[in-house]
Amino acid sequence: QLHNTILELKGNIRVFCRVRPLLPDKECNVTEGAIVSYPTSTEFLGRGIDLMHHAQQYSFTFDKVFNHEASQEDVFVEISQLVQSALDGYKVCIFAYGQTGSGKTYTMMGRPEANEEKGLIPRSLEQIFQTSQALQCQGWKYKMQASMLEIYNETIRDLLSPIRPGSNFDSNAKQYAIKHDLNGNTHVSDLTIIDVCSINEVSFLLQQAAQSRSVGRTQMNEQSSRSHFVFTLRISGVNESTEQQVQGILNLIDLAGSERLAKSGSTGDRLKETQAINKSLSALSDVIFSIAKKEDHVPFRNSKLTYLLQPCLGGDSKTLMFVNISPEAASVQESICSLRFAARVN
Ligand code: ADP
Ligand code: MG
Repeated sequence: QLHNTILELKGNIRVFCRVRPLLPDKECNVTEGAIVSYPTSTEFLGRGIDLMHHAQQYSFTFDKVFNHEASQEDVFVEISQLVQSALDGYKVCIFAYGQTGSGKTYTMMGRPEANEEKGLIPRSLEQIFQTSQALQCQGWKYKMQASMLEIYNETIRDLLSPIRPGSNFDSNAKQYAIKHDLNGNTHVSDLTIIDVCSINEVSFLLQQAAQSRSVGRTQMNEQSSRSHFVFTLRISGVNESTEQQVQGILNLIDLAGSERLAKSGSTGDRLKETQAINKSLSALSDVIFSIAKKEDHVPFRNSKLTYLLQPCLGGDSKTLMFVNISPEAASVQESICSLRFAARVN
């Protein structure tokens, strides 16, 4: 039996595992249960998950493990404090990691059309706007700015650019160069940043970003799961009576699918994509790992994603990684890879 002992919570990095339910059209795969144990249905939340593969058991422990019965609300309850801390001036990153189809987008965005199935992006934004309004009577005034981008093959695309996405994606007119200033603020040149005052305004931008993503995808003939989606909310608060100031950032990131396509002999563009994804996911793992180990040198510059998020990882910032898992036996190998990745950063 292989056991991955997870060390105590290190600093501000947490890992939550979420197993999605079996999908109605995949029932033929259920016969052989890949996941032998994880929180039982009476208790949707636990810490351990065991998988069986080739008669060998693989056990992992995380900060939390949600089973297939955990609702979007159940998950949000466990992260709402973390979201809240962005209003207190913290830099927060929440990632969703996992193979394509494991529930990353469901966890982050959910099904916005169904209220109970909204994911943690809309829920977080609702909470932030509600709380910031409630804090007004204590003298707090907040300014919020949103930006949304995706990183595809180590190239940044602005999802809120007013220009038609096609022309934007194809030309190199915009460089989207990443710079960090001495105050630890990140600037991406030419990136559209929009002041937002209400949940409705952000919802509108999220729709615009989704549309921009799908247009870009069709034009480039690529798959949805091949890019990282990064939503950023910059929050600045001033207290008019105490003159206190806070500056927080909330980054919500739906990562590209972690599946190892290289093994299936992909060539050409698909191979290039896979290499870019592998590179940035392992760069992310390296960065989080070296932050957790408190190493002096953190290799932020090894990928666009880690360089972009540099000021929001490490230091006194807070990071949460969701590792999403598909329950089907056919996915067990990818699931073990995902859990190993997550165990390494935890
Ligand atoms: P990914 O973004 O990792 O590729 P998705 O979030 O698109 O995966 O999920 C794949 C499918 O599974 C979608 O149809 C999604 O609605 C469904 N799904 C994922 N997680 C859950 C869940 N916890 N409950 C219900 N359906 C889910
Ligand atoms: Mg997705």
